[in-house]
Amino acid sequence: ITIHPSQLQETFIILTPKQKHYLLRVLRLGDGDKFIAMDGMGKWWLAQLTAEIAQVLELLEVKTELPISITLMMALPKGNGFDDIVRYCTELGVTCIAPVISDRTLLKPSPQKLERWQRIATEAAEQSERAFVPTILEPVTFKTAINECQINHRYICEARGEYPHLTKVINHSSSEIIIAIGPEGGWSDSELEIAIKSEFQPVSLGRRILRAVTAPVVALSLIAAICEV
Ligand code: SAM
Repeated sequence: ITIHPSQLQETFIILTPKQKHYLLRVLRLGDGDKFIAMDGMGKWWLAQLTAEIAQVLELLEVKTELPISITLMMALPKGNGFDDIVRYCTELGVTCIAPVISDRTLLKPSPQKLERWQRIATEAAEQSERAFVPTILEPVTFKTAINECQINHRYICEARGEYPHLTKVINHSSSEIIIAIGPEGGWSDSELEIAIKSEFQPVSLGRRILRAVTAPVVALSLIAAICEV
C-alpha cells in the first residue's frame, strides 16, 4: 500500500479506513500477516498486522529505479490513451510525465483527469515495486512546456524525416533527460521548429510509424536498455 508520511508514527502505521478495508477484506490479511508499505518518495517498509494495527518491522532497500531521470513530455492522445501511457511508462521507470496540449491535440482534459492519472501512476508504481511514484504535471500548452523546460538533454521524437535513432544519441552519462512525443496527427511544422530552436534534438524510434500510445513505451524501453544494462 502507499501511505502518506504523516501516517508513520514511530513504529506504527496509522491505516486509513480504505487501507484497512483493502488489507483485511480485499487481500484477506489477518493477525501476523506481513505487507509492504511505501511512501512513493523512495522509502519502503515491511509491516505486520497485529489486531488491525500495522507495526513497522524494517526499512527495506529498493533497487528498482533507473539510473537516469526521464521526463516524458507527451501530447495528449484521444480517448483514454493517456491512462495507458501513464500506466506503462510508470512500469518502465519514468520519473515525471508532462501532458501537453499540442496544435493537433483533440482532447481537452477535464480537471479530474490529473487526479485520475496520479492514481494510475501510484497503482502502477506499487505493481512494479517502484521506490518513487512518478509526478504527473498539470497539462499546459506545448509552447509553455517548451519555454519552461529546465532539463539540459532534450529530445523530440519525429516519425518522419531522416533523424538519428534515439539509441545513437542518448548520452549514457546523462543523469536527466526529457523526451517529447506527439499526438496521433504528429507535431505541426511550427512545433517542430520551436522545439529545435529550444535545443530539442529530433530523433527517430525506427522506420515504422508507431501509435501515439506505443511510441512512449518504445522510447522508455530503449532508454532503459541503454542505461540499465
Ligand atoms: N501522422 C503522424 C506523422 O505522420 O508524423 C504520426 C504521428 S505518430 C502516430 C505519434 C507520435 O509518435 C509522433 O508525433 C512521434 O512523436 C512518435 N512516433 C511514432 N513513430 C515514430 C518513429 N518511428 N520515430 C520517432 N517518433 C515516432
